Amino acid sequence: MIIVLKPDATEEHIDHIVERLRELGLRAQVSRGEERTIIGVIGDERLLHHQPISVFPGVESVTPVLAPWKLVSREFQQHNTIIEVGNIKIGGRKLVVMAGPCAVEQRDLTVGIAKEVAAAGAAILRGGAYKPRTSPYSFQGLGQEGLDYLVEARRQTGLPVISEILDVRDIGAFLEKADIIQIGARNMQNFELLKEVGAYDKPVLLKRGMAATIKEFLLSAEYIMSRGNRNVILCERGIRTFETHYRNTLDLTAVPALKELSHLPVIVDPSHATGKWNLVAPMAKAAIAAGADGLLIEVHSNPECALCDGEESLKPAKFKDLMQELRLVAEAVGRDL
Ligand code: PEP
Ligand code: MN
Repeated sequence: MIIVLKPDATEEHIDHIVERLRELGLRAQVSRGEERTIIGVIGDERLLHHQPISVFPGVESVTPVLAPWKLVSREFQQHNTIIEVGNIKIGGRKLVVMAGPCAVEQRDLTVGIAKEVAAAGAAILRGGAYKPRTSPYSFQGLGQEGLDYLVEARRQTGLPVISEILDVRDIGAFLEKADIIQIGARNMQNFELLKEVGAYDKPVLLKRGMAATIKEFLLSAEYIMSRGNRNVILCERGIRTFETHYRNTLDLTAVPALKELSHLPVIVDPSHATGKWNLVAPMAKAAIAAGADGLLIEVHSNPECALCDGEESLKPAKFKDLMQELRLVAEAVGRDL
C-alpha cells in the first residue's frame, strides 16, 4: 500500500501514521520528496481492512498494491484449479458443457432432455428446481420434487447434476442431491448464502451478478473460499447495459480477465447472456475461443411450452449440431470436447 500525504502534512501526522501501522504489525517506509512525502507500507496490507488510513490527518490518497482478494488470486495459486465432479474434471484441457432445461418440469421430460444432452456430449445436467423469478406469479419451480427428478435423471444417464440454491435452509437437500450447487446472478452478493456453501466442499458454480464488477465477483468467490470450500467455478452470464435488443450483454472480456486474475475455472452461459436461442451458438463458440473452460446451455425438447426461458432454449437437435461445431473451435484453441 502506498500512502501519499498532503503537501501540508506535518511530522506529527507522519509519526501518527507510522505508529499506527507499527501497532498493526506493519512497517512503514517514509520517503520525503521535495513536494510530497509518501509512505510505503511493508507487510500484509489486508491487516488494514478494519483501519481506514485515508481518514488519518495529513493523508491525501491511499493506493493498495495487493488485490483485495487472496485465495482466488493467481498470485496465491499459479496453476489452474481443476474441480472433480465424479470423473468429470472442470478447468482442465477438456471443456465441460452443462446443459438442460431452465426449470425442472415433469419427471419424464427432465429424464428425456437429460438423455438427449448426454447423447450429444454434455457432461453435466442442469435444471432449476427453485427458480428466482422476477414476478411472484411466474412458475417458481418444483422445489424438492424437482431435485428428486434430477436425481432420477442422473440415475438413468450417469450425468452429474447442477441446480440453483436460493435459500440457506435448503443446504441439506442440495448437499445430498446435487453434484454442483449453483449460486445465481441474483444471489451473487447474498453473503450468508455464500458463507453457507463455503462451509462444505461441494463444488459451487458462482454466477456473476447482473451489475457486478469483476472485483465484486471475485470478492464473492473469496467469501466462499475463505470459509474453506476451494471448489469454486466462476460463471459469466452477461451484464446489464444500455442495450435492450438482447437480454444481457455477454462480457466476454471477463473470460481472459478472470483467467489472468484467478486460478478458478471460468464457465460461460450464453443462454442467459443473450436471452435468444438464435444467438446462443455464436456466443458459445466465441466463449470457447476466448478461453472459457466450459459452457452452461439451456436445452428444452419443447421450448414453446417451457415454463421458464423457452425463448433462449435450444432444441436437442440444435444443441447436438452446436456440440459438433464447438469441437472444431475447441481444437483450434488447443482444447478437447
Ligand atoms: C439460471 O441459470 O437458471 C439462472 C436463473 O441464471 P442467472 O442467475 O444467470 O439469471
Ligand atoms: Mn433460465
